[in-house]
Amino acid sequence: MAEHGELLAVSDAQGIVLRHAQPLPPEETLLTPAALGLVLAEDVASDVDMPPFDKAMMDGYAVRAADLAPGAALAVIEEITAGQTPERTIGPGQAARIMTGAPIPGGADTVVQREWATPLAELRVRIDRPTQAGQNVMLRGREMRCGETVLGTGSVLRPQELGTLATVGRTRVMAHPAPRVAVLSTGDEIVEAHERPGPGQIRNGNGPTLLAQVQRAGGAPHYLGIARDNVASLRRLIGEGLQAHVLVLSGGVSAGKLDLVPGVFAELGVQAHFHKVAMKPGKPVFFGTRGSTLVFGLPGNPVSALVCLELFVRPAIRRLRGHEVAGAWMTEAALAEDFPYRTDRPTYHPARLERSSDGWRVRPVPWFGSPDLRGLTAANAFVVLPAGDHQHRAGQLFPVLRVEQEDA
Ligand code: AMP
Ligand code: MG
Repeated sequence: MAEHGELLAVSDAQGIVLRHAQPLPPEETLLTPAALGLVLAEDVASDVDMPPFDKAMMDGYAVRAADLAPGAALAVIEEITAGQTPERTIGPGQAARIMTGAPIPGGADTVVQREWATPLAELRVRIDRPTQAGQNVMLRGREMRCGETVLGTGSVLRPQELGTLATVGRTRVMAHPAPRVAVLSTGDEIVEAHERPGPGQIRNGNGPTLLAQVQRAGGAPHYLGIARDNVASLRRLIGEGLQAHVLVLSGGVSAGKLDLVPGVFAELGVQAHFHKVAMKPGKPVFFGTRGSTLVFGLPGNPVSALVCLELFVRPAIRRLRGHEVAGAWMTEAALAEDFPYRTDRPTYHPARLERSSDGWRVRPVPWFGSPDLRGLTAANAFVVLPAGDHQHRAGQLFPVLRVEQEDA
């Protein structure tokens, strides 16, 4: 485990987490919309040429380029719609009326779009404008050849990948599954949302927050409820959580009298890799492993837990899912206004990341510290402020931890 003398830097802690996170073994996966975002674990080859035939890209007339003098009148010998097979070969002075997606008939090499030709009496057509040879025809195999690898291991399944897989006849692929992530709250004072807190009690804000964050990060969340601050309760629920790929627990990891979690982890065979990181909020964060299960003990204060999930758990979930790029989601932005700030550790301050005419700007939002989850409802990111007493100026660039997909 990392030494405590000097606190571990966030980036070093992230490195430790990623060193212990391996992509989950691939599974045969049905290609439904639920497969969106999974990472492919095989190379996929096409079983067809695409297009499978020389194909019309426009409604118009299939012709021989050699016949295309402006004003030429051609005999229309056939009409071909998508799904049909042409029956006749186009000879000199002939054309076929053709629809988008239909196969080009033999002899023809060009499609004159409908708007550039005028139908005449007795099944003839006049070509009004010049058309280049080969225009409006997509040649067989242009998009892909039978046997060609169209998607490689590591591809992320977005809508276009799902469609491409369907095009090459796949209904299942080998892909890394979403990790099962158990979420456990702890604390004698915590009650669930449907309960009215008694004296000294507060509601469980962390449970729903962390479950939703896990889902947003691509994990399959599983809620274990609230463990009480006694060894028996913690032992039972932590033991259950250790069956998952990842256990995310909040509370009970700092140095208070009833912070029993590290002891129970040790008793249940969890090997500690770090406990405390140089950050605010979130300093007491714990990371360990038991076998291949990753174990995160997040501090109980809701904002601490949320920031730690984004910084440490999200990258782990992404790595388990097989993503090549698994770091936290960082960017850089200019401070929107002067912001004097004093802090003794690098601080993740809630902020709004906004697009302005000259790039991204970040504006800290009012915030009353690590218990203030409500303050985050005005934020969509965290600006990372360095330790020390600083007069930060508008326009200065700062690292920003992003947490949301939508633009501000
Ligand atoms: P702890 O890390 O257990 O010392 O908790 C730190 C602070 O976070 C205390 O004020 C707890 O009451 C609070 N806290 C712990 N768990 C939760 C939770 N699930 N929801 C909201 N606040 C919590
Ligand atoms: Mg507690």
